[in-house]
Amino acid sequence: RQAELFNYYTRIYGKSYASRISAVPGTSEHQTGLAIDVGNANGACGLQACFANTPVGKWVGKNSHKYGFIMRYGKGQESVTGYSYEPWHFRYLGTSLAKNYKSSGAKSLEAYYGVSGSSPKNNTKNAKGTARTTANLNMRTGAGTGNRVLLTIPRGKSVQLTGSKKSGWYQVRYSSRTGWVSGKYLSSISMPSKPKKESKKSTPKQNTSNAKSAKTSANLNMRTGVGTSHRVVLTIPQGKKVAIRGAKKSGWYPVKYAGKNGWVSGTYLRSFSSSTYSPKSSDPKSSSSASKKTIANLNMRSGAGTSKRVILTIPKGKKVSIRGAKKSGWYPVKYAGKNGWVSGKYLR
Ligand SMILES: [Zn+2]
Repeated sequence: RQAELFNYYTRIYGKSYASRISAVPGTSEHQTGLAIDVGNANGACGLQACFANTPVGKWVGKNSHKYGFIMRYGKGQESVTGYSYEPWHFRYLGTSLAKNYKSSGAKSLEAYYGVSGSSPKNNTKNAKGTARTTANLNMRTGAGTGNRVLLTIPRGKSVQLTGSKKSGWYQVRYSSRTGWVSGKYLSSISMPSKPKKESKKSTPKQNTSNAKSAKTSANLNMRTGVGTSHRVVLTIPQGKKVAIRGAKKSGWYPVKYAGKNGWVSGTYLRSFSSSTYSPKSSDPKSSSSASKKTIANLNMRSGAGTSKRVILTIPKGKKVSIRGAKKSGWYPVKYAGKNGWVSGKYLR
């Protein structure tokens, strides 16, 4: 069955994308008998990232650990788990371990056990470097003992190297935290190969009304009309560019993808761009709203990107004030008297 599924996705999306959303036959966690996929009875957002925002998705995300299950492939953990965000996929650990996992704050089972994720799907070009601690080792906010200790990594643990090195100190990830450790207490150091620099395209200001194209931020159902009650024409994979055919209607856009016309919810469209871009008009939603609400417990960081230091975690449902212009999907915000950056994905 897994071979059938995988081949099906490969035919539609190509092998590289297929292996991000479906396990290579023989490697699915479902084959352990310890994993289940959960869905809404009406099929809403089935096996899609938007499942997390449905009633069942919210409930199971919050309560599964009480019954011994954890969400196995969390948001933003693809480089560790090897899988895209799967808010529907739960792994049975037993109640005591699942509760422990939850209270540890670990973002992946790999981080919880201090092992580096090694997925056959990880492209070797992006392979994370690793090293092993030879002593109980302080992870600090910077390179040098003058910096604050974030946590102590036990001896013999495997840490992920980010590739940054400074005067004998290495930047590492361990237990979902990023910080610096002295290289004196690391062995089997294998530095990661340098990630390809993404060309920084200067993105024009969002102008959704004149937008000619946009990108999907999740696997997105294209439907025959405006609203989830309409028939699904096809599912557009996350990260694909769609052409916008006309004016928005109740938050939905008429789009064309893979030669088909249909409607998609604007909630899962990003990077609107337009050939008739006019610098004078801008999307009021993206530029002039002075405050937004967090839709998840959200890390405020010292810069735009998850590699930056966490200043504090803003609880879900809090109002933050926006201090300036968005940068690669991140907003400069102020909360509890502190300034920092948060991912726009978790703001509404
Ligand atoms: Zn699954």
